[in-house]
Parts: sequence; C-alpha cells; structure tokens
Amino acid sequence: MKIDIVTLFPEMFDGPLGHSIVKRAIEKDIVDVNTVNFRQFGKGKHQQVDDTPYGGGAGMLLKPEPLFDAMDTINEQSPKTNKRVILMDPAGKPFDQAMAEDFSEEEHLIFLCGHYEGYDERIRSLVTDEVSLGDYVLTGGELAAMVMVDATVRLLPDVLGNAVSAQTDSHSSGLLEHPHYTRPAEYKGMKVPDVLMNGNHGLIETWRHEQSLKRTFLRRPDMLENYNLTETDQALIAK
Ligand code: SAM
Repeated sequence: MKIDIVTLFPEMFDGPLGHSIVKRAIEKDIVDVNTVNFRQFGKGKHQQVDDTPYGGGAGMLLKPEPLFDAMDTINEQSPKTNKRVILMDPAGKPFDQAMAEDFSEEEHLIFLCGHYEGYDERIRSLVTDEVSLGDYVLTGGELAAMVMVDATVRLLPDVLGNAVSAQTDSHSSGLLEHPHYTRPAEYKGMKVPDVLMNGNHGLIETWRHEQSLKRTFLRRPDMLENYNLTETDQALIAK
C-alpha cells in the first residue's frame, strides 16, 4: 500500500510513523508512507497557502491552488495507482473500524490535512471521501490522519504478529472484546477466572463470547442493533 499525507506540518508525523507497528510495516515494505508539504506549492515570496474568506468572516481559509498542485504532483509520481483521496473534515463521515477495513483494501490512500478555519470549498472536488475523527474540532487534520493511518496499517496482511488479534479486536467482530488475563494467576486477591486455566478451548471460546456480549450490552448497547444475536445470546442478555 502507498500512503501520501498532504500537510503543512510533516514533522508531526515523525513520531507516530517512527514507532512500533507502523514503523515495522514501513521497514518491511508493506506500506510506503510519504508526507507532502503543500507549503512548497504556495504562491509568492511567503509561499502563501491561505487567504481571507469571500464575504467576510473569521479566520483564514486554505487556498485551492496549493492543494490542487500537490495532488497533480502525486498523480504525476504515481499515475497508475487506484487512489482514495480522503479529506480530514469535522463535517465528514465519522471514522470507524469498518472504514479502516475498507481503507486497508486500497492500493493508494491520500490524506488531505486542513488547518486554519477550513478549506476553499472547491478543494472538495479533489476528494473521494470526507472523513471526521469524531464530533469535536481539532486544530488541524494531522492528528486525525495519524489515527486513520494507524488503524488502517495494522490491518494490512503480515503487519500484526498474530492476524487473529485484529479479527477479535473490539469493533471488528461487531462486539467489544472480552476481558484478558496474563500471569500471575492471582494478584492482590484478584483471581483469573478458572475457565481460562482449564485448557478446554470450547469452554474458553464460549466464556469469551459471553463476556464480549455482556460487555457490549452494558457499555455499548447501540452496537447490538447491528449484531446478529442468536437465541442463546438473547437469553444471556435477558438475564
Ligand atoms: N471551521 C471548520 C469547521 O467548523 O468545520 C473547522 C476547521 S479546523 C480548526 C481545521 C482543520 O482541522 C479542518 O479543516 C480539518 O482538516 C481538521 N479537523 C478538525 N477537526 C477534525 C475532525 N474532527 N476530524 C477530522 N479533521 C478535523
């Protein structure tokens, strides 16, 4: 997979891309991540990328030309890839695990990070997706793009040590994940449930499913609206 991040602050990505799972995915050539500073396409001596809004109002807006020029450059460098161009936008579709799974199937993702008061509306003609990290306003699109890159890259084949862990993660199966325990078997009077120690994988799977179901019912009942509950599941949460 190829990822381009179009931003005024490329240095912000050094940390998140330089550690842990994303770093290993880059080193293993599973993903190629580049930042493109669109300041280089700004006009005039000061490489201006923003301007005041027509009609007046607060704040500065990103001008269209630098982002269009940045996209032209990416298209020239990678003319043949299938591209998904994702605008970071608090008014966009909320990002979720299903979207991360969808993005992880793509050949080339391009994240456009806004700043200031927002964008000239014509920038939207460049994009295939308008995506929000959540119902709050960030200073810029960089933190949102980092989260989306991280959630997407960990789903790529051979990135996680154990591929099953992504399948059972909260939000992948449609339920929140069950509780986990590791050694010691007892700590400060708190014991690991017996079922996890008896080696009976059938019973362990049943226990885990029940725990996932209970946790989802208690914490995120809204998720169950889209989950296919069996009769046994329904009886369990009716208790
Ligand atoms: N005035 C804009 C509005 O009300 O929609 C907010 C502009 S915000 C200060 C600057 C930029 O940060 C946005 O253009 C967007 O790229 C990014 N941003 C802010 N909040 C975001 C969110 N929740 N999800 C994704 N990007 C966000």
